[in-house]
Parts: sequence; C-alpha cells; structure tokens
Amino acid sequence: MTRHSPDDIRVVTNQAPPLVGHNVITSDHALVEAVVRHGSEDVVADLAPLGAEAGSAEAREHGILANENHPQLTPYDRYGNRIDEVRFHPSWHWLMERAVGHGLAAAPWESDSPHAHVRRAAGFMAWSHTEPGHGCPISMTYAAVPALRADDALAKEWTPLLASTSYDPGLRTPSTKRGALAGMGMTEKQGGSDVRANVTQAHPTSVDGEYTLHGHKWFTSAPMNDVFLVLAQASTDSGQAGVTCFVVPRVLADGSRNRLDVVRLKDKLGNRSNASSELEFDGTVAHRLGDEGRGVRTIIEMVAATRLDCVLGSTSLMRRSLNEAAWHAAHRSAFGSRLADKPLMQNVLADLAVETEAATALAMRLAAAVDRSGDPHEAALRRIALPLAKFWVCKRTPFMVAEALECLGGNGYVEESVMPLLYREAPLNSVWEGSGNVNALDVLRALAREPEVLSAWITEVGLARGGDARLDRAIDDTLALLGDAATLEGSARRLAGRMAACLQGSLLVRHAPTEVADAFCASRLGTEYDGTFGTLAGGDLRAIMERATPAA
Ligand SMILES: Cc1cc2nc3c(=O)[nH]c(=O)nc-3n(C[C@H](O)[C@H](O)[C@H](O)COP(=O)(O)OP(=O)(O)OC[C@H]3O[C@@H](n4cnc5c(N)ncnc54)[C@H](O)[C@@H]3O)c2cc1C
Repeated sequence: MTRHSPDDIRVVTNQAPPLVGHNVITSDHALVEAVVRHGSEDVVADLAPLGAEAGSAEAREHGILANENHPQLTPYDRYGNRIDEVRFHPSWHWLMERAVGHGLAAAPWESDSPHAHVRRAAGFMAWSHTEPGHGCPISMTYAAVPALRADDALAKEWTPLLASTSYDPGLRTPSTKRGALAGMGMTEKQGGSDVRANVTQAHPTSVDGEYTLHGHKWFTSAPMNDVFLVLAQASTDSGQAGVTCFVVPRVLADGSRNRLDVVRLKDKLGNRSNASSELEFDGTVAHRLGDEGRGVRTIIEMVAATRLDCVLGSTSLMRRSLNEAAWHAAHRSAFGSRLADKPLMQNVLADLAVETEAATALAMRLAAAVDRSGDPHEAALRRIALPLAKFWVCKRTPFMVAEALECLGGNGYVEESVMPLLYREAPLNSVWEGSGNVNALDVLRALAREPEVLSAWITEVGLARGGDARLDRAIDDTLALLGDAATLEGSARRLAGRMAACLQGSLLVRHAPTEVADAFCASRLGTEYDGTFGTLAGGDLRAIMERATPAA
C-alpha cells in the first residue's frame, strides 16, 4: 500500500478547475447562431462584454453571496413607524445594477432597433448564469410595459423610468428617480391560477381613475419595487364590475408612502436571493389601468411577457448546468480516462446538449416574434408557441438540471458547486406565471378561439417539411391528435408537449448542425426514446458534446 507523506496528502489531483473566465455568450454556439439568425453579427458583438462579465469570477461570487445572504424584511423603523422595506446584500444590488445597465429590463420597448427583443432575450439568458433570482424583478419590469400601454397617461408616466438603464433603488417619489422597477400582484390566498376568485376590493375615490384597495395578495415578489400591476374587484355604485387591473405605486406623488403592508417574506425552496412577499392593502391608492371588469385582459400582456422570460430563464438554467457538467467531464478522469471520453458519459452530455439546443432555438424564435409582432403570422405564432414553450421547456428543466448535477458526482450535490442552487431554482418557472396545467389548457383555449394560431403553427413546423422523415411523421401524428385532443382537457399536456417538440424539431432541422437535429428527431420525435437522458441511439455524440463544452 502506498503511504503518503504529510505533504503529499495536500496535493489535490483530478479535480476540475472552477468554470470561470469564459464568455457566456460567445462560447454558446447555439445562442450565437440564433442571435445571428434573428438579429445580426452586430448584436452578438454588442452582447459580448455582457457575456464576458457574466462568466467572470467576480460575477459568480456575487451570485453566490446574493443567495447566501437572504433579503430581510424591515417592517418598522426605530421609532415604530411602518416602513415595509426589504434590505438586500450588496451583491444583489451589484447584480441588479448590471442587469438594468445592460438594458435587460424594459429598455427594448423604447429602442429603435429591429432586434431589440432578440438582443435582450440573449442578454437575459446569459446574464442569468450569474444568479437566477434577480431575474424576477428584471422580468416583471420588462413585462409591465406592454400592459401599461392600455392607458396613455400611465404609460407615459412609467415607461421611461422602467426602460431606463440606470438602477436607482430605494423608495422615493418616482419623478425624482433615474429608473424604476415594476412588480405584479395577482395571486391571493384562495386562488392563484383562478384570478377571477380574487376578493381584494377596489373602491373609486372622487378623483377620476383613482381607487383605494382593500384586501391582500398571497404572493408578490420584489415588494421593494416602485410600482405594481395589481388585480382587484372594482366595486361601483351599481355593484361589482369585476376583476380590474390597477397601477399601484409604492410612493405617492407627494412623497408619502402608499399604504402597502408587507406582512412577511416567503421562506422558499429556491429563488432565495429574491424577496417574495405577502401583502395587505387597506386604503392603498391605485390607478385603474384599462376598463373595469377587463383586468385579466389588461394584465395578460404582462403575463405573456413574463412567460417568455420563464422560457428564457429555464433555458439559461439548462445551459448553465450543461456547461458545468460538460466542463467537469472534460477535466475529471475515472477508470483510466477522462469522463468526457467515456461513451456513456458522451451519450448523457450529448442528450443534455440536444435538450438545451432545442430550448435555445425555441426561446430565441419566440423573442424574434416579439420583435416582429406587427406581422400577423408572428403574432399568431407567439400566441400559440408561448404557452407551448412555457409548458414544455420549463417542465423539462428540473430533469435536465438533476441529470447535469449527477455528472459532477458527489461534488454536484455540494453547495460550492452551485448545482444545488440551480436544482432548487429549476421547478420555479413551471410553477409561476401559469403552472404546467394552466399553460397546457391555454394551448387548448388558443386553438379553440383563434383559428389563425393553428395555421401559424402548421406554417412554422412546415418550413422544415422534407428535411427529416421523423419530423414529417411527428407533425402528421400531432395533427391527427389535434382532432380529439383539442377538445379533451385531460389530453392537454400530451398535445402541448407534442406541438412544442415539433416546433423545436422544425427549428433544429432548419438551423442546427446535422448531428444535433438528427439526435433530436431520433429521440424526442421518435418512438423508442423513453425520456431518460443518456439513451440516444447513436449519432455523432462526441461532436454534439464538444460543441456544448465551454472553452475557458
Ligand atoms: C417564488 C414564487 C414567487 C411568486 N411571485 C408572484 C408574484 O410576484 N405575483 C403573483 O401574482 N404571484 C406570484 N406567485 C404565485 C404564482 O404565480 C402562483 O402560485 C401560481 O400561479 C399558481 O397559483 P396557486 O399557487 O394559487 O395554485 P393553484 O391555482 O391552486 O394551482 C394548483 C395546481 O392546480 C393546477 N390547476 C389549476 N387550475 C387547473 C385546471 N383548471 N385544471 C387542471 N389543473 C389546474 C395548477 O397547474 C397547479 O399545478 C409566485 C409564486 C412563487 C412560488
């Protein structure tokens, strides 16, 4: 038996170095190709500094610190006055300042660039590698703008602040701030998905369009933000007008704080850098956004934009976890050779890469549809592809992250590897902004009410017709399924999953390297694949894996 001297046992061998110092944008070939496809080389060049910063050791450190040091609610000041403030670690502010500064909040809505949303989507995915929790207020700020457009005056007041690239935290009069952040309050104790069950009441005041709110919200993330879009039942002299959308500022124009009590912060599975709160309203000043009784229709614009970010956020989690897994396998040996040279590990990594390529292609196609929303085909495609992608990509993410974690062996189960943080975050995008069933049912709703969305899907998947026989067959099978499934709630997940996979297949057959498209069609669109990662039946697995391995 070999005996080690005391010095020898301090020599560490066969441990992968940390994955830092790589450019998260330029090392992601699938993302770069999508940005060029839907935008231009100039957009890639514009995003490259963001990619470098997102992969830096400094950013990674801030991501860890923001998660270790949870936000704290300070309900009262030292004199007993209610202040309802949330305090964050400086690393949270570091991350927020850069996310806003890189134009990832609402800047695209005020941009002249025809690729503003593609740029922002790629940037959001890349920046989320640093830490996913602070993406929540960034996403809600991005998403509030299209809903605010329901009212010219409110849009004019808030959009420039939300679209600002200056991060200016703190509760102050909006007109004195260089930038503002938005949140949303829909979910109540008795119902989240079913917002028509909301009990919070809104009473009109003597000022035109102004109301006071009385009630609560069970989940409202980022309660330190400057303004919230909130649903409540508008009551009129003649009775209830129904669920209505309101704009609720934290600080009123005269500098006083709006009555918005933060009852407590949620103790969450993941997403721990971000604060998610319970609120109470008791005479809270609110401004009606859109018509009384049309609140769901008004806020759905915000919901749609946040659903895009759920797809982007999940795709980012996939890519970050794949990067870590591929990096580890490239630097760790077992049984005489590198893990990355083992045929079975190549199969696992290639399969994870195929999943990530498919998610990236679909996410970026959705962002391009936002840039071109004036085109009827793009608008119809977005309407159907958004719930499809929200259902499918977000649903695949926890399995994918768990498998990537396992690639690191025991090290992946240890906090320092960051894989536990990604794993805890992974289910969230499927829960909020419409859980899996709700999005699958939304697909049925869109098919039933808006015939143009099916035409848009058929046109889009049809662009790859003839490119791969398995895709052609899957499209035909899905169309056959549509006849029955479109009317059957119980089949909604099956239909949504198949429609999403066909869309992904169409994008990959047209745009991805042959080996990636081939592996996707043989597995996700074939009949043999059972969904377990690492069960691809052949193909150039090494090439797929090597394309996914970041070069640092
Ligand atoms: C970390 C975090 C932050 C959040 N932040 C916010 C926020 O900022 N603002 C906000 O408004 N909300 C927020 N939420 C709430 C979130 O959006 C809701 O939890 C979510 O929409 C589900 O609502 P619910 O919890 O009431 O569950 P329910 O609506 O009771 O749903 C429970 C389950 O039933 C399923 N279901 C619902 N209807 C049907 C149906 N018709 N058929 C079949 N199945 C169905 C759902 O898919 C789900 O799986 C947050 C949640 C979390 C976890």
